[in-house]
Amino acid sequence: MTNFTSLELAQPILRAIKDEGYSTPTPIQGKSIPPMLEGRDLLGVAQTGTGKTAAFALPIINNLAKNGGKLRKFQPRALILAPTRELAGQISDSIRSYSRHMHISSAVVFGGVSIRPQIQTLSRGVHVLVATPGRLLDLMNQGYVNLDSIEVFVLDEADRMLDMGFIPDVKKITAKLPKHRQTALFSATMPQSIQGLADSLLNNPTRVEVAPAATTAEKVEQSVLFVAKDKKRDLLGDLMKNDDIGRVLIFTRTKHGANRVSRHLHESGINADAIHGNKSQNARQKALKGFKTGKLRALVATDIAARGIDVEGVTHVINFDLPNEPESYVHRIGRTARAGATGVAISFCDHEERAYLNDIEKTIRQAVPVFEEHPYHLAEIANDVNAKKPKRQQRRRPNQGNGQRRRKPKHNNRNRRKAA
Ligand code: AMP
Repeated sequence: MTNFTSLELAQPILRAIKDEGYSTPTPIQGKSIPPMLEGRDLLGVAQTGTGKTAAFALPIINNLAKNGGKLRKFQPRALILAPTRELAGQISDSIRSYSRHMHISSAVVFGGVSIRPQIQTLSRGVHVLVATPGRLLDLMNQGYVNLDSIEVFVLDEADRMLDMGFIPDVKKITAKLPKHRQTALFSATMPQSIQGLADSLLNNPTRVEVAPAATTAEKVEQSVLFVAKDKKRDLLGDLMKNDDIGRVLIFTRTKHGANRVSRHLHESGINADAIHGNKSQNARQKALKGFKTGKLRALVATDIAARGIDVEGVTHVINFDLPNEPESYVHRIGRTARAGATGVAISFCDHEERAYLNDIEKTIRQAVPVFEEHPYHLAEIANDVNAKKPKRQQRRRPNQGNGQRRRKPKHNNRNRRKAA
């Protein structure tokens, strides 16, 4: 296994890595850092939780510092596009940490908050700009971001960009990038359309792939509890009596569902809050902070709001509702097995969700163990192995829940099934 010192990173970066407490590079870092330091294009098939942020951030900082050069106002030198504000915020925090011993400036821009302070920061000139697509386009259209000086471009979570209908915006942005540049594209999955996008953006890339979905799932102790829909809340209340559940992320399919579960927990004397797209940015940040500091024992979230949330020490993930997309299941349970840790994922499955469980088990290539010893266990759901998906779920319109402008779900069937 390589260590960081053999990766030829500058001393101030190695010091920052030490400050962070990282001792060895994760597999994606070991494979991505050398080609990126050489200036090569990269196609990374990896999901959040694998350490992919540092995999691109460290070489970017390293090379920017090495190249020197003057900063111009409104002309960043590196651009990182992320699908959600939470992820953009976390990438930006990481870049700030990794460059803390160097003169590298960075900024983050996303929608849902005032544009003025963002313009002010950009006017001072920054090395690295982290952005969500909608707000970046606004800034570009108003003349506050010019991409002519971009040396390196990262498209993070490309498959999520697709799910959220952001690809047309991404294409408008990439059309303005200089032809001569370094590009890295990261995606947890590689559907045909993302492969096509990668082909159009990357030049003879190094392909690195780590932890396919099934591997991540294997690290998590999973179980499924069959329960009637109207008994889920009681079941949750019952489970929460277990003190082993220290910090729990609870997933619901809808925003209203998240509010209801959070309220119910609160009424049962459990410190909980909800995080979803109908909440203001301030309320979301407050909830996230409360969860990170341990003030909240439970955070109830929808899929998109939880995307990229990186909180250490999540002991349990509870799927109050099963997701209708198997990949979301893998993303969700991955929240409790960060950077090598193990975790516990408990899923509630009612009659209507039985078919989703079948899909999930096919994707993770394993059967989720059934927990029968709870007072609400319903064997008839367990036995309904040929259950069909409810039609109404498939007709649902996308509800992106990230506070950014909505896109028409053009030619994208996956969008139709999504509800944040
Ligand atoms: P990411 O996949 O980039 O979201 O990173 C997931 C988590 O792993 C974050 O909390 C990082 O701080 C942490 N991390 C990244 N690289 C390492 C490393 N080499 N050793 C230990 N933890 C790491």
